[in-house]
Amino acid sequence: MRIAMVSEHASPLATLGGADAGGQNVHVAALATALARRGHDVRVYTRRDDAALPRSVDFAPGVEVVHVDAGRPEHVAKDDLLPFMPALAEGIAEDWAGWPPDVAHGHFWMSGLATLDAADATADPPAVLQTFHALGVVKRRHQGAADTSPPEREWLEPGVGRGADRVVATCSDEAFELKKLGVPQDRISVIPCGVDLQHFRPDGDTAARGDRPRVLVVGRMVPRKGVGTVIEAISLLAADGVDVELLVVGGGAPAGGTDPELDRLAALVTRFGVADRVELRGQLPQSDLPPVYRSADLVVCAPWYEPFGIVPLEAMACGRPVVASSVGGLIDTVVHGRTGLHVQPRDARAVADAIRELVVDPERAARLGAAGRRRVAARYSWDRVAADTERAYLATLRAPRTAGTAATRGAVR
Ligand code: UDP
Repeated sequence: MRIAMVSEHASPLATLGGADAGGQNVHVAALATALARRGHDVRVYTRRDDAALPRSVDFAPGVEVVHVDAGRPEHVAKDDLLPFMPALAEGIAEDWAGWPPDVAHGHFWMSGLATLDAADATADPPAVLQTFHALGVVKRRHQGAADTSPPEREWLEPGVGRGADRVVATCSDEAFELKKLGVPQDRISVIPCGVDLQHFRPDGDTAARGDRPRVLVVGRMVPRKGVGTVIEAISLLAADGVDVELLVVGGGAPAGGTDPELDRLAALVTRFGVADRVELRGQLPQSDLPPVYRSADLVVCAPWYEPFGIVPLEAMACGRPVVASSVGGLIDTVVHGRTGLHVQPRDARAVADAIRELVVDPERAARLGAAGRRRVAARYSWDRVAADTERAYLATLRAPRTAGTAATRGAVR
């Protein structure tokens, strides 16, 4: 099959860990590569954010990244990209004139708009699938006025869900949300994200660490990731005489400026009096992460909400137990009492208690970590995710086209 992926802000070529570069970049890169390994031709369309980028880059065997001109060729925050989607759609449709795809798969709601519009502008349109990676309705519920998404997201995003031939949800929680948005259940497939099991593995080098048990947090540094809660938990443990160190990896400004969230977290570290046991290390390339995961006794993921969460899979792949908020994708991936411990979001006491449970019983922690590795090996390899995605593509190609027109989306505008 010829497969077009559209990922407007999240290029497979980006550096990870900044405010707008994380799981979606990893997902698109790994899924495209794994589909190409199955013999498909994949083009990933992304917005040109640097004038020096060539039109097309060979990313992996069978995978090309195509930079489409849409707005200024420089970094633009993802929440400001909506006005450029018509130009992105036009550029994609032009490319399809010479390379007509069988399937087009949009990633994130704005890419969905561009994908559907490009399909509408194509004489023999591809089947259109959509993965949201995050839903505005959930973001608004948790972030309220702090949500910087454009207001149009509220009606355009459900329109993309209803307009696509099939929506791929990455976890069961997201499938429930999509149903509430009016996406028919028979057009939703649940396929998780995956993890690179060769790269993230329990055996190998271990990063240097101190004598205290090490708690690790990895991710983009944005408030909803709940890193502040983890810092507070460390202070509660210190007050209880439980001595642990916390390493936080991630964060960094796109143009080398300061990162406001890292600054906020640094202030919290000072306020809670835990500067002697918390290190904010900033962004690391993914190639450097496995030894860092292996240097930890446990990994904490304490988001307020989480559409999927690849970090817990990486931690489990490295054989580490995970303390996770019981939200979104983490409900499916982390099994309470078997591969980690679930806690309520925004509850520093609960995070502290869960960390304590694992550091006082290293044998149990090791058991949970080993079970985590077995779980991801059985369910979350990218090869398995790609095979499931291919099945969803084939099922969509066989189904009669029921949607995917601008008129369908116009009805909800
Ligand atoms: N990541 C990284 N370096 C960093 C911070 C994060 O490579 O300094 C990667 C991390 O390994 C993971 C991804 O960014 O693969 C984050 O994905 P996740 O799904 O957990 O969160 P999202 O960014 O999608 O909210």
